[in-house]
Amino acid sequence: MHYHRPQNINILQELLQDTNREYTILAGGTDLMVEMRQKPLPAEAHILDISRVTEISSIKEENNQFILGALVTHQQLAESIAIQKYAPLLAVACRQVGSLQIRNRGTIGGNITNASPCADTVPPLIVLNAEVEILGPQGTRTAAIEDFFDKPYFPRIKPNEVVTRIRFKKLVPHQKSAFFKLGRRKALAISRINMAAILQVDENNIIKEVRLAPGSVFPAWKRVHEAEQFLTGKTANENNFNEAGRITSEEMIKISGRRWSTPYKEPVTAALVRRTLMLALEQE
Ligand SMILES: Cc1cc2nc3c(=O)[nH]c(=O)nc-3n(C[C@H](O)[C@H](O)[C@H](O)COP(=O)(O)OP(=O)(O)OC[C@H]3O[C@@H](n4cnc5c(N)ncnc54)[C@H](O)[C@@H]3O)c2cc1C
Repeated sequence: MHYHRPQNINILQELLQDTNREYTILAGGTDLMVEMRQKPLPAEAHILDISRVTEISSIKEENNQFILGALVTHQQLAESIAIQKYAPLLAVACRQVGSLQIRNRGTIGGNITNASPCADTVPPLIVLNAEVEILGPQGTRTAAIEDFFDKPYFPRIKPNEVVTRIRFKKLVPHQKSAFFKLGRRKALAISRINMAAILQVDENNIIKEVRLAPGSVFPAWKRVHEAEQFLTGKTANENNFNEAGRITSEEMIKISGRRWSTPYKEPVTAALVRRTLMLALEQE
């Protein structure tokens, strides 16, 4: 097995330019190590450990934007005062990832690239309209987060490409937000379904804008435009949020058909939409 550990982004880029090698990228290792134990890498594999690339390990604020290095950990995001203030739903999501040990090692770049259907940072990043910056042999390209996945476990990333940064606009005070995670138990639970919402209402409690994205509901992550359209221009209240939930479940069944899990997922998805929107509405 070959092991490479670049110390900065220039060396990382040089390594990526060697297209005779197909690298396995290692960041925090919380997903990869589990996977390697189940399916060991072949002896000729090249591990590219990016954990020492310091240029992509911090949270930066530029004008009205956040630029997160791919190596930023869940704990850094959960603790960041700026993220708590200007993207609170992401701080809430990261606070609920695994245990403290996992949050201290697991990175946001790894979370999105691993692309598990229950990845907790993906729905928040979708409603934040985040962009993903990807470095490859030919240089840097960017992709909207919603276009970054074919389906769960299949990110649209080519061999020898590395996610380097994630950018999104800060929320402004009248944009309220919420993240809700439903696990099998309270602590250290992988999400069964999760939900992220951003909600903007005017002084008469009329919805000006709403963005809604669930995890583990559709075959690939997407915003629920049908529910968003229904809500826009309506009063922000429980009745309308209930209807938005019903529309979301209906959309799920339209796309995926009725399955063994539908009797559970149909009412639960609808309830989660209502609860997440209520949480956003009640946000200070
Ligand atoms: C006990 C336990 C509990 C967990 N609980 C949760 C939870 O509640 N919620 C949740 O969302 N996740 C959870 N996870 C999953 C995991 O911790 C996260 O997905 C984590 O963010 C992965 O980041 P990492 O840096 O450890 O990735 P790694 O394990 O290093 O890599 C994961 C995958 O992404 C690739 N990769 C990593 N970084 C990059 C990059 N920058 N560019 C390109 N490819 C890259 C790797 O090649 C690999 O395929 C849990 C895991 C464990 C073991």
